[in-house]
Amino acid sequence: MKIEQLHQLFLQSKGITTDTRSVKTNQLFFALKGDNFNGNTFAWQAIKKSAGYAIIDEVKYAQNDRYIVVGNVLETLQQLARFHRKYLNIPILAITGSNGKTTTKELIHAVLRKKFDTAATTGNLNNHIGVPLTLLSMKRTTDFGIVEMGANHAGEIKHLCEIALPNYGYITNFGKAHLEGFGSIEGVIKAKSEMYDHIKAHKGVIFLNADDPVQVAQSSYEHSFTFGTGKNVDVKAEYLYDSQTAQVSIDNHLYKSTLTGSYNSVNIAAAICIGKYFKVNENSISQAIGSYIPTNNRSQIIKVGGLTLLMDAYNANPTSMKAALESFSKNPAKDKIVILGDMFELGSASAEEHQQIVLTLEKMDLAKIYLVGSNFFKTHSHKSNIETYETFTDLSEALKHQKPTQGYILIKGSRGMALERVLDVLREKN
Ligand code: ATP
Ligand code: MG
Repeated sequence: MKIEQLHQLFLQSKGITTDTRSVKTNQLFFALKGDNFNGNTFAWQAIKKSAGYAIIDEVKYAQNDRYIVVGNVLETLQQLARFHRKYLNIPILAITGSNGKTTTKELIHAVLRKKFDTAATTGNLNNHIGVPLTLLSMKRTTDFGIVEMGANHAGEIKHLCEIALPNYGYITNFGKAHLEGFGSIEGVIKAKSEMYDHIKAHKGVIFLNADDPVQVAQSSYEHSFTFGTGKNVDVKAEYLYDSQTAQVSIDNHLYKSTLTGSYNSVNIAAAICIGKYFKVNENSISQAIGSYIPTNNRSQIIKVGGLTLLMDAYNANPTSMKAALESFSKNPAKDKIVILGDMFELGSASAEEHQQIVLTLEKMDLAKIYLVGSNFFKTHSHKSNIETYETFTDLSEALKHQKPTQGYILIKGSRGMALERVLDVLREKN
């Protein structure tokens, strides 16, 4: 079937699904394959649950004319998304980077929706499947689209840009994330910069944090709209941190937020910069930033009795870990505790990067440091306030024993460590 025809069916349908458990009447079911499943084998269930059509790539599963057999379901989904993106004919802003994509995307969405009918990636649907699904969820009546793009290998951002065809682009930062797939920080820079290449080739606009020399060097482009603390920027920002939440001052206006972590100032400034570019008024921007509440254990402040938890357990890599520690070190409180979990996907750099975090911690003024996971367990320190635990169970036993009841606790680790579980342990006692 030609992609034009499939698009017609799509427009007449109630959208796309890839999961038979949540099929709705008249949706198109795309039978994707994963490491442990083959969507083709579920296609009959989708049809039984009243999906309009099932898009499959193994002919033996086709039972009647409601099964559309294509060469490759994933590629067809991506082609359909690209076709739909052209049909949408709206401006699209793409966001990539190592850390802070979702937070920045949410902030920008909050700002732009004050003025425009704006659609954005929901949650973290930022990969080769999520980006097509995001585009296919957008309507032609939408004024503006925001698409988060994630990658852990070279070439992926280029590919996602070829599907989403963004007119505007913003890279949050280049950091040590997914080193396993990128090989090195140079690999990260090159891969993320594929977005700059796309925007330049299509004469779009790049939003740029001018304080980051690597980004400035990578972008070098006349249609850049910049923000930062230095001179010669389009939006001059001053970063403030009131020991708990990130704040930004721009054009004598103080933008307050509920976000913990001083690194969030840059994410906020990016959203203000983009809001200003699109002429959203100052008060609307301020209101959008101030009322944004982070979700999913990203930079959240949670009170448990006399404890204030800076819950950042959503994810971690060496760059975001150091940013969180640097921010925490600015907090003037006594009784500061950190609970850190292993950072994953670091390949051969893993041992070294975990030890580097320990070195950073040794220089900080902290009451207590709890490190958990098999990587942190292998690190060395001569400081007596650092305790390492191989498993979460061991850590929770220690926490139950030592009962911290006062002060600030920073909690951060890779997603697989699920350190938000610390909350249950601390709540049990308080
Ligand atoms: P993912 O790769 O999972 O999509 P992401 O890039 O979307 O992540 P967020 O979910 O916004 O990032 O934030 C994840 C974590 O990254 C935050 O909890 C915080 O610790 C850290 N972080 C956010 N912004 C920055 C930043 N500007 N610099 C460094 N670290 C940051
Ligand atoms: Mg994300």
